[in-house]
Amino acid sequence: MEPDPKVTMEEITALAKRRGFIFQSSEIYGGLNGFWDYGPLGAILKRNVKNAWWRDTVELRDDVVAFDSSIIMHPSAWKASGHVDEFHDVMVDCKVCKHRFRLDQLKDRSQCPDCGSKDSFTEPRNFSLMMRTSIGPMEDSASLAYLRPETAQGIFVNFKNVYQTARKKPPFGIAQIGKSFRNEITPGNFTYRSREFEQAELEYFVPNDGNDEAQFQQWVSRRKAWYANYGIRADRLRFYELKAAERPHYAKAGIDVEYLFPWGWGELESIAHRGTYDLDAHMKLSGKDLRFFDEASKTHYTPLLIECSAGMDRTTLTFLVDAYEREISTDPNGKQTDRVVLRFHHAIAPVQVAVFSLARNKPEMVQLARSIESDLRGTYRAQYDEGNIGQLYRRQDEIGTPFCITVDYPSLEYGTVTVRERDSMTQERVGRDALAGYLKERM
Ligand code: ATP
Repeated sequence: MEPDPKVTMEEITALAKRRGFIFQSSEIYGGLNGFWDYGPLGAILKRNVKNAWWRDTVELRDDVVAFDSSIIMHPSAWKASGHVDEFHDVMVDCKVCKHRFRLDQLKDRSQCPDCGSKDSFTEPRNFSLMMRTSIGPMEDSASLAYLRPETAQGIFVNFKNVYQTARKKPPFGIAQIGKSFRNEITPGNFTYRSREFEQAELEYFVPNDGNDEAQFQQWVSRRKAWYANYGIRADRLRFYELKAAERPHYAKAGIDVEYLFPWGWGELESIAHRGTYDLDAHMKLSGKDLRFFDEASKTHYTPLLIECSAGMDRTTLTFLVDAYEREISTDPNGKQTDRVVLRFHHAIAPVQVAVFSLARNKPEMVQLARSIESDLRGTYRAQYDEGNIGQLYRRQDEIGTPFCITVDYPSLEYGTVTVRERDSMTQERVGRDALAGYLKERM
């Protein structure tokens, strides 16, 4: 399947800016490449995406516990994990235009894609993706530390603390959502490749009892269902099974969850069977025993690990792209208009119900609309607005609000309001008393 030509990243970026989803970081200083700020609606959108992941991965399971580790860890943790020595991309520079490229992303290694020069690349060099910082008042090699490039290592080094205090035994998981940092050579495609981003990671430890592959498949199915439940289009999502040569040598299985973005397929999440690699690496360097002690058999063993590692910024971007639609619609007067609509799932939509007063200058109308909005606020993400009804609908369509409620003249007389549904644009009159039930049934 080819990328959908109806949506471009320029449109998504423009909408995100116009409606307050995502802004370039430090924009007034010219921006900072690879860093982004989430505006009032974007912050809620991303929070909803994280909550949806957390609900399904942690809250609905009695075998997964929560975790929140520090961003800066002991540098030895990154030595043990292999990141200090091996976490790099191979890059080349064009000697003519001075632009830098990731070697694996170049289609033609003999010609610069930016300036077209032939054979202008430098020799390939390794470029570490680790973001460095220093701890304390002296800046020397002893103070060197790293901003974590993934959240998982904080879980591994705490494996024993967690299983002992949470009184869990494999199979069980530890989950966390948090910021990660990578000094990407070529950040781009909006928030898709950033230098600061958030990950939601589940580390699921299982005994080596022959059920590990079934456990791996169980997580693949669960993650598939998650994307489907929140409405991501099935034809734009694929679960790509990594071949042995594409996986790290220690990994027994791996699946990349990919979405068809306007520029092509891009990874959202990696689901991997990592064996005992991570715990072994920390045991070796720290000299500490992180094995699980099984009370029943009185033996120590290192559990196998199944990891689901999803990028929350990439997933948020996916929800934006997937929900985006531009269509010709006909208004109640038969006039055709072009509308942009974000068809967010109601659990993901930043605003779930917008309540309008048709007239600004009618205090009873404004008061009624405000009181409906305040009643709904306890249950839904609600918003009050007033003014030109066409413009109000247009705005709410563009931010993906599933329902709009309008208080008008008949509302004052009969106590009914107009409820307009985003996708079908159908309008119904509903009694104020019946509103809560009406919305509950539909959301
Ligand atoms: P890529 O190949 O795209 O660089 P990766 O395979 O290095 O990604 P992982 O190390 O598997 O990524 O990280 C797990 C998830 O974290 C990814 O699937 C992605 O959603 C997210 N992620 C990784 N790097 C970035 C980034 N630079 N910006 C935003 N999200 C990222």
